Amino acid sequence: VIELADVHLTLGEGAARVHVLKGVSLNIAHGETVSLLGPSGSGKSTLLMTLAGLERPDSGAVRIDGADLGALSEDALARFRGQKIGVVFQSFQLIPTMTALENVAVPLELAGKPDAFAVAEAELVAVGLGHRLSHYPTQLSGGEQQRVALARALAPDPLILAADEPTGNLDSETGASVIDLIFAQQKRRAATLVLVTHDATLAARCGRRVRLRSGRIETDEN
Ligand code: ATP
Ligand code: MG
Repeated sequence: VIELADVHLTLGEGAARVHVLKGVSLNIAHGETVSLLGPSGSGKSTLLMTLAGLERPDSGAVRIDGADLGALSEDALARFRGQKIGVVFQSFQLIPTMTALENVAVPLELAGKPDAFAVAEAELVAVGLGHRLSHYPTQLSGGEQQRVALARALAPDPLILAADEPTGNLDSETGASVIDLIFAQQKRRAATLVLVTHDATLAARCGRRVRLRSGRIETDEN
């Protein structure tokens, strides 16, 4: 469902220009659970953003569900991402002026989904937040905020869930419950999970571990 072929990507301008991905090729099948590991700065987040269509490579190809992302216009790519790829970040990235329910419902509504608010409510119930619909992000704990972010990512029923250190800002107990929820939802929806983590125990729960070093895949093991 994810195919990267010889992807190169540079970020930054002038003296800050960095060749981040140096020829990454990777195929991930539908329903796989894959962890991305590697030292800080090795390119994990950049690779995740690239396979989520949030960064465009300088060269090489990214295909998702058979579609060549490089051939899509910005608008078409944004629509494609909204349907097929859910993303969760370490820092939650909720919209502070919106309630939990609005954070999940508004993107659905903008995508033209009927019953956006009903779908959003069901997604929040599914992550155990049926009692927090009207709360704003600042009124929620970190774990609750991340569960809202997870509900938002999952609401369009994406093929792929991309998570970048989703428990990085949570204490270990809260993090473990968010991770359990991510795996439970992945399984229930038969989605593909790509998870950036530093945690070997967590990586061991994935069916496959891909380790990066200096912008290249160092190991790829089941
Ligand atoms: P960490 O484990 O610390 O999150 P990472 O493996 O996720 O690290 P990336 O965030 O993908 O690493 O960054 C890879 C490299 O790209 C780093 O050397 C970083 O400094 C560089 N980089 C990232 N974003 C930019 C940018 N916008 N401009 C210039 N360089 C960047
Ligand atoms: Mg990172």
